[in-house]
Amino acid sequence: MIQTLAIIGVGLIGGSLALALKEKGAVGKVIGAGRSEANLKLAQSLGIVDSWTTSLTDAVKDADVVLLAVPMGAYAHVMQTIAPALKAGAIVTDAGSTKQHALTVAAQYLPTHAHFVAAHPLAGTEKSGADAAFSTLYQEHLCIITPNETTQTQALDVVQQMWQDAGANISTMPAAEHDKLLGAVSHLPHLAAFALVNAVNKQKTDDFDPMAYAAGGFKDFTRIASSSPEMWRDIALANRDALEQQIDILMDELQNIRVALQASDKKSLTALFSSAKDARDDWLAKREKGK
Ligand code: NAD
Repeated sequence: MIQTLAIIGVGLIGGSLALALKEKGAVGKVIGAGRSEANLKLAQSLGIVDSWTTSLTDAVKDADVVLLAVPMGAYAHVMQTIAPALKAGAIVTDAGSTKQHALTVAAQYLPTHAHFVAAHPLAGTEKSGADAAFSTLYQEHLCIITPNETTQTQALDVVQQMWQDAGANISTMPAAEHDKLLGAVSHLPHLAAFALVNAVNKQKTDDFDPMAYAAGGFKDFTRIASSSPEMWRDIALANRDALEQQIDILMDELQNIRVALQASDKKSLTALFSSAKDARDDWLAKREKGK
């Protein structure tokens, strides 16, 4: 059991972890910290945190475990600020969506008497803030932990147990592998959703309003374009190299469709669409079987 947990950024991810751990009885006291007083007050009224402060140093000074659940662009500032206040043996962990960046910033700013463990729960919604948090968010979802040569074994065990207590299944891999994989299956789809909505919306004129006729397909494809722009800006920048490659791959695929269209090449179009349908159907079937 974690005696004192400090959560920096009590939004969907940090708030849901607190609720899950409280429900399981796996945490003593939860202290929330962040920049918005209104959000922190709401978090307390929802029973997510036991107390809150806008002072990051006050939040972490007695904490056994500190979770960073803020946008990745805030990592350097947050780690630099909390560093002098961390007690000896404190475990600092994060839930950010790219892992090489997290490890680099932690190595740069955290003191040697604290132990950093990088983690990423593969669960979320397009909603933000404490009121979006719910205790079952992590149930049966994967949490990827990316230890490196500096990771302390005991700290790794504590973080692993924390996510298991929240209901997650654990997978470990190197940070570079994580960033490449998630670049393909999570970050690229978000960028594609943002781009698609812009592409359609930009066509709007006084007498042409395509989004007024958008239906289920548009809604399904673009749900994640309602995600926090600030958070996704930071994820994209933190995983820029992998994403540039992924964007090229997607553009090649679109180009293949364009070429086949231009040539009225029915066979190629069918082959392109069939391979996507088969791959998705296969993925869905495996997912269902794994449940
Ligand atoms: P969120 O917007 O719901 O919560 C983030 C919180 O951080 C907010 O309460 C905000 O006020 C606070 N915050 C922002 N900047 C801050 C700063 N400089 N100092 C202190 N507090 C600050 O976002 P979220 O969805 O909970 O995401 C948090 C982290 O989790 C991000 O790093 C994101 O990459 C990662 N993540 C998100 C998802 C998802 O689907 N939403 C999934 C997995 C991981």
